[in-house]
Amino acid sequence: MYDQSVVNQIKELLLAGLSYREIAAKTGVSRGTVAAVNRDQPRVYGQSTPQLAPPRRCQGCGHRVCLPCRICRARRHLKNALAQRRRGDGPPGRSRSRRPAA
Ligand SMILES: [Zn+2]
Repeated sequence: MYDQSVVNQIKELLLAGLSYREIAAKTGVSRGTVAAVNRDQPRVYGQSTPQLAPPRRCQGCGHRVCLPCRICRARRHLKNALAQRRRGDGPPGRSRSRRPAA
């Protein structure tokens, strides 16, 4: 997060026609930040990201997470993928058993 005075300085230097590299060197921010200011994406350099709901204890896995729980979702996904592979109707190309017999 950067001070508004730095952001204003970057904008002035952009208007003056300096390169991202020169502006970054003068102001001490990264070239990516200069580019974000140039594109006017304040979320990158200015305001903080919007607050998420506070983490809660997940009923499924017991982790403290922001619901819906992505840990449980990932585990469900993995379980389904493994079950599919065992049944043999998973995505092709990842199974040794498909190798033709010599
Ligand atoms: Zn969970």
